[in-house]
Amino acid sequence: MVKTRFAPSPTGYLHIGGLRTAIFNYLFAKANGGEFILRIEDTDRERSKDEYMQAILESLKWCGLEWNDICFQSKRNEIYERYMNKLIEEGKAYRCYCSKERLEQLKKEQLTRGENPHYDGHCRNLKEYPLDKSHVVRIKLPEEHIDFHDYVHGDLHFSYKEFDDFIIRRSDGSFMYNFTNVIDDIECGVTHVIRGDDHLTNTAKQVVLYRLLGKKLPEYAHVPMILGEDKARLSKRHGAKSVLEYRKMGILPVALVNYMLRLGFSYGDKEIFTWEEMIKHFSLDRLNKSSAVFNSDKLIWVNSEHMKMVTPKDILDYLKDFLDEKCLKFSDDYLIEAIKTRQTKAQTLVELADEIRFYCVEPIEYEEKGIKKYLKSGVREPLEYLYKKLEKSDFSNEDDLKKVFDDTMERFGLKMVKLAQPVRIALTGRTIGPGIYEMLVVLGKDESLKRFRKLLDVVYSG
Ligand code: GLU
Repeated sequence: MVKTRFAPSPTGYLHIGGLRTAIFNYLFAKANGGEFILRIEDTDRERSKDEYMQAILESLKWCGLEWNDICFQSKRNEIYERYMNKLIEEGKAYRCYCSKERLEQLKKEQLTRGENPHYDGHCRNLKEYPLDKSHVVRIKLPEEHIDFHDYVHGDLHFSYKEFDDFIIRRSDGSFMYNFTNVIDDIECGVTHVIRGDDHLTNTAKQVVLYRLLGKKLPEYAHVPMILGEDKARLSKRHGAKSVLEYRKMGILPVALVNYMLRLGFSYGDKEIFTWEEMIKHFSLDRLNKSSAVFNSDKLIWVNSEHMKMVTPKDILDYLKDFLDEKCLKFSDDYLIEAIKTRQTKAQTLVELADEIRFYCVEPIEYEEKGIKKYLKSGVREPLEYLYKKLEKSDFSNEDDLKKVFDDTMERFGLKMVKLAQPVRIALTGRTIGPGIYEMLVVLGKDESLKRFRKLLDVVYSG
């Protein structure tokens, strides 16, 4: 069975690069009827914080990337000990007592000779290996080429000369990333490792560990990094935010997942994917070989497309976080009708919340420019006429209202905009908003006429 994992270190919030890795792992597991495991790599006790871990879990949940199982490296020390002891017993790892001073001196000499600094194997063959003397544990690096296959990068070859007897356990007893990562992948039965290609050198070391432990390699897919618009690796400098900040911006989780998926994966030129489509089409063969550039405008566009696809009821569930108390007092049914009039136009939930607020809260001021442009040019009489006609309508359907407007336009020889804009300003305070008839129907007769009268009074008798 396919098993993937996402292995964040809780040393910071979940950023979109990490999110993309999680998405690929999640989709690959789902696409293959497999399992997606979450592993919290919290061995760095100083830098790991509970606050970050909670935020990572919340981000993943919000995005809909539910995991089948979760484990914490900080609770697995005994397992790492067991594997390490086995390697030592088999002569594949050894304790190293070299002091900092010796290692620094060694480095200096190697640099003077023009060599890359590397450990010289000094403690490889000691007569005694006391346990009570401070030491690290190192791998006895085999003098063999390191080869592995990667879905994105093809066959990769590293020379053992690029590495040295690397440390797997520090002198304080904590284990190094490369070691715990491999042990956990073995123990959990991870079949596919999908992560950023900044890990390729780590992978070479990890391949050595798999060989020494006599275990089968997982399949690898190292995905190219995400770049900012200036083609440098994406960072906060480019405005890249943590996942939860995108939630605050009013992005739908499915849209963020869709956009991040496309940053590194293509299915023809398809841009918009539902969850079902993402799972159906995802495959490692379709991962892009070159880096993609993050573009916030495109993310907003993808979001606006998803805003049109989600049911108004589901939009409401998300929108509640953005609606103020006054709006939340209204019934879900009313809010859903309001949402329907603007859902296909708003680009984000923040915009939508702002644009439907008038359904719940009467405007307290009118857009100055709109008043000048649409109410100060001899439309008083037609507007008063329109008002009277509307008083006689029952507002139950858009067609009847359209007839009232058509009649007024004809009578006064006016274009629709001359009538619609003043009414729009009356209802919303603004010149941009939902279609005039649907807005009148949702807002209802009493409220609409009250607002219309108020505007006429303010402008013409005020
Ligand atoms: N904790 C590592 C990281 O956050 C995991 C890398 C991996 O997926 O193996 O980069």
